[in-house]
Amino acid sequence: MAGWQQELKEAVTSADELARLLPVDRCTVDRVAERYPLRIPRYYLQLIEAPGDPIWRQCVPSTAELEPCAELCHDPLSEAGFSPLPGLIHRHPDRALLLVSASCPMNCRFCFRKNRLASGELDFRFSDLEKAIGYLENQPAVREVILTGGEPLLLSDLLLGKLLKQLQRLPYLQLIRIHTRVPAVLPSRITEQLVSLLRRHQPTFLNTHFNHPRELTAAAALATGRLADAGIPLGNQTVLLKGVNDRGPVLEELFRGLLRLRIRPYYLHQPDLAAGSGHFRTPLDQGMQLMERLQGRLSGLAIPRHVVDLPGGGGKIPLQAERLLRSSSGLQIRAANDRLIDYPDLEH
Ligand SMILES: *Cc1c(COP(=O)(O)O)cnc(C)c1O
Repeated sequence: MAGWQQELKEAVTSADELARLLPVDRCTVDRVAERYPLRIPRYYLQLIEAPGDPIWRQCVPSTAELEPCAELCHDPLSEAGFSPLPGLIHRHPDRALLLVSASCPMNCRFCFRKNRLASGELDFRFSDLEKAIGYLENQPAVREVILTGGEPLLLSDLLLGKLLKQLQRLPYLQLIRIHTRVPAVLPSRITEQLVSLLRRHQPTFLNTHFNHPRELTAAAALATGRLADAGIPLGNQTVLLKGVNDRGPVLEELFRGLLRLRIRPYYLHQPDLAAGSGHFRTPLDQGMQLMERLQGRLSGLAIPRHVVDLPGGGGKIPLQAERLLRSSSGLQIRAANDRLIDYPDLEH
């Protein structure tokens, strides 16, 4: 058994065990975990420094998850409605998602698929995935397949290799993308063997999911450095989470730290409206203000797009406060510090 598989086996999954390691109430954790299962790798657990800190909030069950809220729902992006076959989500013409694994090394408390994962409706078989790949054979518009889940890199190298090979045979496919939280929660999964497997299936892009600068450990740097050295382009998707990373200096440190690891910040997501995750929400306005303050202060390479994925399947929409002001005397653009600067635009 590889080291990462051993680590996975040793992840904390019971309230009893968690209560031995952290000052939590066993019964409360149990009650929440019955609805939304608990799983924390020991690697991630040891990043916690204090109760309620940004690492803790992402992984320790909280009673706030059980609070009902009318705005929150089971499937906030209506993914079920865009699923022509089990395991496949096809909303945009040129990209499709393949949900290759319903489990994760860590069950993030803010997960937007937490309800669908907990219900078991995303437990697909490998034969389902093969059928989904068959569907893509007749979809000339689909140029990119995104492997997600759950955690796609929980597949064994053997199965992942099989999947990548089948994908590469698709006549119209130009690009494979992997969305993974493994570098942040189980970096030992990024073995030399995995990297050489990915390297054989180019072009493959990989998006990591780091939410806090304290996740950028030496182990994470080693894992992502291997991927970057293999020529795999790296992006990062962060979710803006209340009490975790909803402050300018935290985001700045995270984005700068990612760049040093050769990871390009790609998206800053508003949390989706998933039941059991409402306590992580921040107002859209606050996110926009945070991003405005980073714009211009940070290298353009460090600035992700701030997006909201619209309820009901409306897709991801970039958020930006209005910057163009038109008047009879011409056009002004609102620059940093709200300074208004005249801009000599062309006539349309
Ligand atoms: C987010 C998402 C994608 C990928 O979108 P990008 O903007 O290309 O990163 C594709 N399909 C679905 C259904 C998605 O939700």
